[in-house]
Amino acid sequence: MTELLFRDDAYLRSCEARVIAADEHGIRLDRTVFYPTGGGQPGDTGRLRLASGETLAIVDTVKGAGPDEVIHVPAPGSAAPLAGTEVFAEIDWERRHRLMRMHSCLHLLCAVVPGAVTGGQVSDGRGRLDFDVPGSSLDKEAITARLNELVAAGHPVAPRWITDDELAARPELVRTMSVKPPAGAGRVRLMEVAGPDGNIDLQPCGGTHIRNTAEIGPVTIAKIENKGRQNRRIIVAFAQ
Ligand SMILES: [Zn+2]
Repeated sequence: MTELLFRDDAYLRSCEARVIAADEHGIRLDRTVFYPTGGGQPGDTGRLRLASGETLAIVDTVKGAGPDEVIHVPAPGSAAPLAGTEVFAEIDWERRHRLMRMHSCLHLLCAVVPGAVTGGQVSDGRGRLDFDVPGSSLDKEAITARLNELVAAGHPVAPRWITDDELAARPELVRTMSVKPPAGAGRVRLMEVAGPDGNIDLQPCGGTHIRNTAEIGPVTIAKIENKGRQNRRIIVAFAQ
């Protein structure tokens, strides 16, 4: 098991760690700041610095077979470090911060657009959510305006944990139909965007988020696509 430092503090850019194992799939550490691909958010890139002065480029991070298992994928052709090796693990912070901003923005989009979310994906500088809504009821300009209003209002964003039983009793918290929240560990991590009159958004999410919506910055709805009779894909991009 790997200690997932990004789960408690998404702003950590680096940490010291020890190699547990390394094989053709990648490198496992005892603790990490690298977020593995999941919940529509891409895995981190970065580097592992060794005491020898050598630097191993990490080109992707993915989940392993076990719970909380994180695989750091090195650049092709790199020599795998031996188990026990001490490393300084460092993510590409600028990229991760953009991913955090866009990921958090999709939570706001979720609050702005009614209807079940059928899918979503964050990429560098862009993000999309698919909604199960009929017809052409979505107004691009109105969604853009409301989204930027929520961004500019500077609402606090914070994680909150509830038990599996509490979540089972409140099924309305689960907005996504395609991504089931991770249950079975006894507790589930919720992400909350708090508003003056209650939650703006509250749903299970294991991703990384910014602390305040103002940090997202101005955004724009790049496109609303028709993806089938009941499926509308909303693509968001940073305005600057
Ligand atoms: Zn999230």
